[in-house]
Amino acid sequence: MPDTRTATPLIATKDLVKYYSIRGGVLMKEVASVKAVDGVSLAIRQGETLGLVGESGCGKSTFGRAILRLEEPTSGEVWFMGENILAYPKHRLRNLRKEMQIIFQDPFSSLNPRKTVAQIVGEPLLIHGVRNRGEREDRVAELMTLVGLQRDQMRRYPHMFSGGQRQRIGVARALALNPKLIICDEAVSALDVSIQAQVINLLEELQANLGLTYLFISHDLSVVEHVSNRVAVMYLGKIVEVAPSRDLYRHPLHPYTQALLSAVPIPDPSHKRAHRILLKGDVPSPIDPPSGCRFHPRCLYAQKRCSKEEPPLLENRPHHRVACFFAGQVGA
Ligand code: SF4
Repeated sequence: MPDTRTATPLIATKDLVKYYSIRGGVLMKEVASVKAVDGVSLAIRQGETLGLVGESGCGKSTFGRAILRLEEPTSGEVWFMGENILAYPKHRLRNLRKEMQIIFQDPFSSLNPRKTVAQIVGEPLLIHGVRNRGEREDRVAELMTLVGLQRDQMRRYPHMFSGGQRQRIGVARALALNPKLIICDEAVSALDVSIQAQVINLLEELQANLGLTYLFISHDLSVVEHVSNRVAVMYLGKIVEVAPSRDLYRHPLHPYTQALLSAVPIPDPSHKRAHRILLKGDVPSPIDPPSGCRFHPRCLYAQKRCSKEEPPLLENRPHHRVACFFAGQVGA
């Protein structure tokens, strides 16, 4: 597959924050907040796939939705093609939607069961001014072929398709307006392994042919390793490590990444993993995250300093950034 990446970021966030207020009392005042995304700075280069991993509830889906402004960020900046889109007024968001799309996890619940595929895939075109039905259907037919479905299947309803085919319909809908960025939010997690592989191959082919950029959000580290050029690891609303995929999987530097990778099953029984790292306790609440390094209550290598100071995300090896005071000195 040709490498379509460029050095220029297509999208970059700067200190992106998304808090959800919790209100209580008679006056419904804010009594606390859920710190779902807490100061994330990440760039995605044009044509690359950035994998975003972490346990459930770490904020990775909220991050994806915040950069699309499906969830309004609390503060920070999102730079897309050289413009800070958080400064856009609401009326300019419609044009932005053409450039950035999302594919959701559950292909069944994300497709309206009362509409035909032609209506579902054609809907973004209608919203963006393609009023002529024939024109819309020509484009839908083209998209059906692009994602490996038959043109005449556009008259059918979602329940008449398998899970993999439904996700192909989701991909066709995301491609309708020729976007530059697609956020795949657990896009293959609900599919069987063999179907997962087909949808991943489709996404890779489309990237090579159309120059797409992907943010690939998943809790499945094996899938992320396969599809991503670089991988970012998120823990309790913060990025703790980001590196080229191969480097991150071979030389994880953050104790959290090391623990996550130690739990990934290895298909080859002759290949022995060094040891499985069992994390202490549960993920702390994002309402009241731990002081200093957020990972310190569960970290096997925590020192006094870790509960007092927050480690910055710094380059430790070429293109490999990690937020740990003792990165490279501890762990696997
Ligand atoms: Fe563990 Fe301390 Fe590193 Fe945090 S900074 S990951 S607590 S060693």
